[in-house]
Amino acid sequence: MARIRTVEVLIDGATNDLTFSYAIPEALTVEPGQRIRVPLRNRAALGTAIRIGEVEEDSLKYALKPIQGVVSEEPFLTPSLIRLAHWISEFYLASVEGVIRTMLPKPSRGESEKRKVEKWVVVTSGTERDVLDQFKAREKKQREVLEELFQSERSLAELTGPLGFSRSSISTLEKKGFVEISDRIVSRDPLKDIRYVESKSLVLNPEQAVVLESIEKSWEDLAEGKPVKPILLFGVTGSGKTEVYLQAIEKTLDEGKGAIVLVPEIALTPQTADRFKQRFAKIQDEVAILHSSLSEGERHDEWRKVLDQKARIVIGARSAIFSPIANLGLIVVDEEHENSYKQDIVPRYQARDIAVVRAHMEKCPVLLGSATPSLESWNNVLTGKYELATMAQRIDDRKMPLIRIIDMRQETRKHHGGGPSILSGKLREAMETRLADGEQTILFLNRRGFARNILCPECGYVANCRHCSTTMTLHRKEDRLVCHICGFSQLPPRSCPECSAKAIVNAGYGTERVEEVLRKVFTDARITRVDTDSMRKKNQLRDTLTAFKSKKIDILLGTQMIAKGLHFPNVTLVGILNADVGLHIPDFRAGERTFQLLTQVAGRAGRGELEGEVIVQTYTPHHPSIQFGRHHDFEGFAEQELAMRRQFGHPPFLHVVLVTVRSVHQERAEFSLKTLHARLKRHLPEDISLTEPLPSPLVKSHDQWRYQVLLKSTRVRLMSRHVREVMKDLTFPSDVIVTIDVDPYSLG
Ligand code: ADP
Ligand code: ZN
Repeated sequence: MARIRTVEVLIDGATNDLTFSYAIPEALTVEPGQRIRVPLRNRAALGTAIRIGEVEEDSLKYALKPIQGVVSEEPFLTPSLIRLAHWISEFYLASVEGVIRTMLPKPSRGESEKRKVEKWVVVTSGTERDVLDQFKAREKKQREVLEELFQSERSLAELTGPLGFSRSSISTLEKKGFVEISDRIVSRDPLKDIRYVESKSLVLNPEQAVVLESIEKSWEDLAEGKPVKPILLFGVTGSGKTEVYLQAIEKTLDEGKGAIVLVPEIALTPQTADRFKQRFAKIQDEVAILHSSLSEGERHDEWRKVLDQKARIVIGARSAIFSPIANLGLIVVDEEHENSYKQDIVPRYQARDIAVVRAHMEKCPVLLGSATPSLESWNNVLTGKYELATMAQRIDDRKMPLIRIIDMRQETRKHHGGGPSILSGKLREAMETRLADGEQTILFLNRRGFARNILCPECGYVANCRHCSTTMTLHRKEDRLVCHICGFSQLPPRSCPECSAKAIVNAGYGTERVEEVLRKVFTDARITRVDTDSMRKKNQLRDTLTAFKSKKIDILLGTQMIAKGLHFPNVTLVGILNADVGLHIPDFRAGERTFQLLTQVAGRAGRGELEGEVIVQTYTPHHPSIQFGRHHDFEGFAEQELAMRRQFGHPPFLHVVLVTVRSVHQERAEFSLKTLHARLKRHLPEDISLTEPLPSPLVKSHDQWRYQVLLKSTRVRLMSRHVREVMKDLTFPSDVIVTIDVDPYSLG
């Protein structure tokens, strides 16, 4: 009986995740993960091969159509990535096809992969002496071309461009058969031309050595078929975590395997990238760096290097967790507590959690590092799911910076001029001392713009965005009010639009206003502001940080762009202008975020020989986040915060599923959510609790009205299944959008 080979194909754009079976023609081989072309109804469609099988021809009720051909020579997804895609789809309620789309860079998904091709010129044969001897004196130019090519292969563009040869002399050489011109796929790597200077491994201190041993122990255990736990590296700022990552990666390469390092986008500064490129300078092309400012083509080429196994180390933000490293030996997640690991569009995955899942699937160790671990990970240590490695000392026993808290309520009382007091007396003095001593200061404020909003003292009018339920921020340089949610902007009114009073005032302050104050107070200081408004140009951030490092800037003022991962030994003072920004938002994670931010920002001080000092200005000096932060007491903070979370039934003790319904029509959003809520409530499994339908905290955004319900349970899969079942039977008006977020990071 005849057996035929079959392939199950997931067609691009399929939302219901149904796969179709096709026959594989004799002449073709297909592997899972390969991109292929198939007939679908009366057209050709592209899809991904998911499974390969075999059937008896006679057992088929009807003949299978054969696939038309393969689009890619090799699979774009490894078998474990296909497994991972199914896992993510089930856990986060997203389609497998959507997950695969997230895993593959865009240029790889078309009919043909868009790659950059250049013409290259190579010498066909012979030794330099033999070949050059065949030329006469007047063929000098042709000789020179060959001399150049015997040194190294060149692209045609290089020869005719910077090297200044004529196209005709190269053509002549080609006609005579000395050289060949052919197409070559080239990599668009913006760092290609930088030659990195190798940095040598440092001798690890005992705390660091223990962490490395844990990883080596994991490899041994895995080799013997034993299961291993994820390792949480709780290391204070400046304890040398990055050095541990670097040496762990070296060991991984020695094992003949590859590594993925996840870094939050915002911490993926040129400084971070350089540290990895420098350590692996000898093999710098084997380090792929994936960040969001790469062009689509550049990203694709970095990904290609990994797929072709030319790069064995990947450093990247969130989506780098999907890199097709074939033989994975280690995953590192730096700053594992960072919110940016959670993707806020479908599929709403959490890259740190996916790192743990992928490591488990691929049987490799995973190292999660942070100075302020997430309470989820910390709780996993307490319950024995994760192994803990602690690095409590800064390198060279450098002291943790002294943190002083300034009560701004008293400062405001002292202040007679009206308006907010931006710089307390203490902070100002401390900055003056640094300027006099030639040391540097970082000031941090997580709010850009000039004033938080404008208001009328007569009637209480506040400028709101007409598309969102939020206030508009004044940006004075552009002289516009800007919505930080949707980007809408308008001219600031000269007088109150409600009561015509002339005395509109600026309420609150952002970095732009602080800069103005600083320039007035410290007239001789070199001050630079770093936020998304001031750092618009390419390389501007890189250049600014370089200038700061070489002490060409005295005071660096910025938003969270400067909060993470920067290492400047000459910074001895860090000022946090308003620690309360973000503390009073209705989110159970507000306290955790404030603690993290305080610790991370404070960690920028005293990283060199000189001792560091941190000054924190706040209106709520007794808040636990601020008090524990002041004493560098993560464990104390975690203990009280976890007790509170347990009491109120918040994560990590329960999982949450957030269901949001949006529409431009308020009544339709509200009505649709009520219907959905009623369905969820009917047959609600016992272990799940469901809130009443409510407006989202940000009830209007981008002109859409938003209503939501929350499900809570210890059993996350039970919730997913219940929501999936309910959603299957429901249809909504076309203007209504339903989003489902499993383990959400923002409650709307
Ligand atoms: P973290 O990532 O924990 O904030 P880093 O890895 O940036 O800390 O280390 C802080 C500084 O200490 C860096 O300048 C680093 O080169 C240095 N360092 C790290 N480990 C060692 C070591 N074992 N010996 C000497 N210096 C070290
Ligand atoms: Zn808006």
